[in-house]
Amino acid sequence: MSEQQGQGAAQPFDLIVIGAGPGGYVAAIRAAQLGLKVACVEKESALGGTCLRVGCIPSKALLESSERYEETLHHLAVHGVDVSGVELNLSKMLGRKDKVVKALTGGIQLLFKKNQVARFEGHGRLVSATEVHVSGAKGEARLTAPRVLIATGSVPSSLPGVAWDGDRVGGSTEALSYPEVPGHLVVIGAGVIGLELGSVWRRLGAKVTVLEYMSTALPGMDDDLSAEAVRLFKKQGIDFKFGVKVTGARAEGDGCVVEVEGGAPISCDRVLVSVGRRPCTEGLGLEELGVAVDRRGVIQVNDHFETSVPGVFAIGDVIPGPMLAHKAEEEGVACVERMVTGYGHVNYDVIPSIVYTHPEVAFVGKTEAQLKAAGVPYKLGKFPFIANGRARALEATDGFVKVLAHAETDRLLGVHIIGAHAGDLIAEAAVSMDFGASAEDVARSCHAHPTLAELLKEAALAVDGRAIHI
Ligand code: FAD
Ligand code: NAD
Repeated sequence: MSEQQGQGAAQPFDLIVIGAGPGGYVAAIRAAQLGLKVACVEKESALGGTCLRVGCIPSKALLESSERYEETLHHLAVHGVDVSGVELNLSKMLGRKDKVVKALTGGIQLLFKKNQVARFEGHGRLVSATEVHVSGAKGEARLTAPRVLIATGSVPSSLPGVAWDGDRVGGSTEALSYPEVPGHLVVIGAGVIGLELGSVWRRLGAKVTVLEYMSTALPGMDDDLSAEAVRLFKKQGIDFKFGVKVTGARAEGDGCVVEVEGGAPISCDRVLVSVGRRPCTEGLGLEELGVAVDRRGVIQVNDHFETSVPGVFAIGDVIPGPMLAHKAEEEGVACVERMVTGYGHVNYDVIPSIVYTHPEVAFVGKTEAQLKAAGVPYKLGKFPFIANGRARALEATDGFVKVLAHAETDRLLGVHIIGAHAGDLIAEAAVSMDFGASAEDVARSCHAHPTLAELLKEAALAVDGRAIHI
């Protein structure tokens, strides 16, 4: 429902949600299901937030299309399928991505209608703990509610010396729509965005150089996983430079120049800055209201997502924790369920994380380094894709599954997967861990044959040294 906006009396609601990303729109719908009269304020004309508009969805659409292009070019012959005359139609590929985004963002509009969530288009600002002003191209509105939920997400971080021009030197949003394949793309930051979008443009023909400050890619992931990821991505042609401090980047002439400490400047065609994201809280009125944030602007909340100002709540990328769409969704649901029912909970120990490269990289729970640092005794089971029948049939033999279980209780503590469909395989591990399963529980469950799911069963068996197929 797109509401008529005007400057009259404040319109009353039970809950005002600011931001319609996966945190905000899911919270708004769940609150409406629970019987609340809900308003959702979003400054963009399309709903869905970073995730649907310029994040998860468009990046996955391009990852899928570019993977098909690369597979057709290089990986079909082994199946006895000879192709010739393969050509890239970039504008069509980008157009498909835009269509996917449009369909999904339009879908949220329909869901709002179905659930009678009142939608207000414009920038939302808290003028008190119970009143939000909306202003934008569609006019102004004043809304009141006893509870306000901030779900304004995040925006890309930059670096000192980087002259971000939103064209040649830009972030993920620009890299989702380059009008031509860059001859040479320099990616600053070997995190999730750098590897996903770096992979897209490498597959489409760009030379890709990734500059990373740390000594490996995907810092924070299990060491085995990041080492294998770097090995495989290097083999695919991505050029990594680790331990590099970027001191500047700018567009120059037809291309760009990237300056690094202690090294020669690097010339390239485009620069993708992917060094993390920061909370989006500008102009929200937080300071005036006294909402506590940390030094990076991250909103501080208690365990039911209430900020330092009673009645004002926050979820998703603006609060601590991994910046992931499903984490934001879980928080949105838990937050509004607690408001209405008194119960609501997110199990932060079991939030899966996936990098949608080829192969995919996925994990849930603790890494080996974290267990060592915490002095937790653990057992380890590992099983390679090459020993799995389905992986052989798929010609997808790179990677492994690694299971970490408590040495005494056998309870699953972490599962780390690199390989084909790792992102789908991790779901079984997450559900098992949420139910407190042991490695033995997974190992004793019947897994259909031949499936990649058998990899997890075998890795769970390997925890006790009894994997069958190796
Ligand atoms: P957001 O999705 O950022 O939504 C916040 C919304 O609030 C925005 O629509 C914004 O316009 C609006 N807003 C902000 N301020 C105001 C205001 N004052 N008034 C009104 N509206 C306002 N995560 C995954 O889990 N899987 C992935 O595959 C994945 N891929 C990604 C790929 C890329 C390229 C990027 C950039 C991110 C990706 N992420 C992924 C991260 C994911 O997008 C975020 O974690 C998620 O969108 C956070 O949800 P949110 O609801 O907290 O915020
Ligand atoms: P990131 O935190 O994943 O990676 C940033 C990388 O940049 C790190 O490796 C870091 O060491 C490096 N870095 C930081 N400063 C640097 C510097 N000065 N020079 C060189 N390297 C530097 O951040 P991102 O890739 O920008 O992604 C942002 C967020 O979006 C992440 O939190 C991620 O969770 C989310 N995201 C998730 C997905 C997914 O779930 N598949 C996909 C994309 C983005």
